Amino acid sequence: MQTNLADWIKNTPEGEEADSILRKCVHCGFCLATCPTYNLLGDELESPRGRIYLMKQVMEGEPVTAKTQLHLDRCLTCRSCESTCPSGVQYGRLIDIGRELVERKVGRSTGEGFKRRVLKNLLPQTALFSAGLAAGRMVKGMLPTSLAAKITAHRDAGETPAPHHARRMLVLAGCVQPAMAPSINAATARVLDRLGISLFTAAEAGCCGAIPHHLNDPHESHQYIKRNIDAWWPHIEAGAEAIVVTASGCGTMVAEYGHILRNDAAYAEKAQRVSDLFRDVSQVIAAESPALSTLLAARQPANSRIAFHSPCSLQHGLKIRGVVEGLLRDAGYELSAVPDGHFCCGSAGTYSILQPELSKQLLANKVKALESGAPMLVATANIGCLAHIEAGLNASSKIPIRHWIELIDERLAQPG
Ligand code: SF4
Ligand code: SF4
Repeated sequence: MQTNLADWIKNTPEGEEADSILRKCVHCGFCLATCPTYNLLGDELESPRGRIYLMKQVMEGEPVTAKTQLHLDRCLTCRSCESTCPSGVQYGRLIDIGRELVERKVGRSTGEGFKRRVLKNLLPQTALFSAGLAAGRMVKGMLPTSLAAKITAHRDAGETPAPHHARRMLVLAGCVQPAMAPSINAATARVLDRLGISLFTAAEAGCCGAIPHHLNDPHESHQYIKRNIDAWWPHIEAGAEAIVVTASGCGTMVAEYGHILRNDAAYAEKAQRVSDLFRDVSQVIAAESPALSTLLAARQPANSRIAFHSPCSLQHGLKIRGVVEGLLRDAGYELSAVPDGHFCCGSAGTYSILQPELSKQLLANKVKALESGAPMLVATANIGCLAHIEAGLNASSKIPIRHWIELIDERLAQPG
């Protein structure tokens, strides 16, 4: 695609990056078939190619309107289009740049701005979010159905083994996950402990920065990123082998720290080191699969049929495909087919709150697809998808949903 960026953006780091991405797009339209919003709305401007064209117009100095902003807002940043694109267009990076530029030019209405500020300030604060969630659980029966559906059931963490192995890995605690499902990181610590690896958190680390990042607030997002780097750095210097992330949505963010802070003289190098050390929990477990297979061989087969929902952040963002499925099969689970598994469930960070109608349609389609193979249980790899799909399943078949690492933990907890 030929470009002629306006002077105000041409020689900026964002302008140069956007220009090189735009130039790769050859308008072929292959990405349209796998875009969930195009699939639902059938409008070119709700497709990757249409949005790319809109962002090009903005960067070439054409007038920007609230309608442009709406088309970009409706994008889930699921990056399904990246998986399909034969030209390697890094759409995820382009939409981050495009949204921020449009936000600066168009702004937000008072109501919309308030909603976004609440999300930005509430979700990353674990203590505040935990208190809100606990209060919500107490009055769940009195809340409107749509709000009550978002309140997840309490999940016991169980015991976390004390670190005692020579092999040590950091784990991202995150922000909403410790409040909603502390069982996920605890299960990960137990599984890794059996594999001879101690998992530990750094006290000062918290939100990965994805929430403000996707709400177009790079300044705040960078503060969270730098706080995590500062918290992890002494442990990295002391030999922590990896930074493990159990929510694939947060993982895509940590994997990008090096890129996001590449122009920050004080943090660029450290941020890249953190990204290099990042591992999704599936990558860590897959690397230990011979030892895991030996442990599992001593247990009874799982003997149950499950459906795996691969989050967009896992399959399109991190490009990790088939790894979790392989681990679950090795653990003795039969995996049922999930039609249109490349489509987003509609959770997408804060999307389910900011674009509720589209999100609901995507959730209904996802629940139907997951239930179609008659599984006894659904497994996934990201807390946002887990909570969102749980609400959909609860309103339908009531099939339970878990993080896949909890299933491996349960299998290993059986007597050997
Ligand atoms: S990121 Fe997802 S919703 Fe957005 S344009 Fe690409 S495929 Fe469509
Ligand atoms: S598939 Fe890639 S090159 Fe083709 S229109 Fe979509 S983004 Fe552009």
